[in-house]
Amino acid sequence: MKYGILGGTFDPIHLGHLRLAEEAADAFGLDCVHLVLAALPPHKTTRELSPIPLRWRMLELACQGNPRLVPSDLELKRSGPSYTIDTLREFKNKGKPEDKLFLLLGADSAEEIQTWHRYREIFEMASLIALPRKGGARPHPISEIAGRIQILEVPALEISSTRIRHLVATGASIRYLVPDSVESAIREWGLYKVTMQPVQSDANHPCCEVGG
Ligand code: ATP
Ligand code: MG
Repeated sequence: MKYGILGGTFDPIHLGHLRLAEEAADAFGLDCVHLVLAALPPHKTTRELSPIPLRWRMLELACQGNPRLVPSDLELKRSGPSYTIDTLREFKNKGKPEDKLFLLLGADSAEEIQTWHRYREIFEMASLIALPRKGGARPHPISEIAGRIQILEVPALEISSTRIRHLVATGASIRYLVPDSVESAIREWGLYKVTMQPVQSDANHPCCEVGG
């Protein structure tokens, strides 16, 4: 089996995430893609995230009807910092030795991979696939790892959760940026109506340690 792993805060999940999963699944013949919800990743401490149950429900709604997309709460069940290397190890342990893991990343995440916890081991554990973001910008990781990240040459979808939150806060439509079911949930729960307050990065919080 070939598994894709796509981690994110998914606040909210949007069509950019779903296309990333779908494009990679087609290009690399993946049997399925696990979308792994991050509780509070180390590199996202500058704003308050929506409550986990709401982000989880939106992820479930977005994956409904597509058997290749599997929402994963694996990182939510773990205490302490959510390191990608631990997530990959858990997937490896659960599967068969011959299973292959593909870590899917947007260009922005791929560029910072060398700041992630035990990143060299990530390369031993999984093949890394990066998708362009922001008007076709391609990742430019440091030369040590540049050759080890495969870039999927597909047109970038300029969609981000940040912009979606901004659109909702200003009363604008987010139709065609998220699945209809996710749009309805956001409206029903009144999410993102107020711009979220930045939170202080707490160096003592386990989730704020350097890693990824
Ligand atoms: P935010 O704006 O809050 O950072 P986001 O849109 O970047 O949200 P994340 O949950 O941070 O979404 O992203 C999870 C993963 O999906 C990251 O690897 C990110 O680079 C990738 N990704 C997100 N949107 C896209 C997109 N439009 N095209 C390709 N990759 C994407
Ligand atoms: Mg992001």
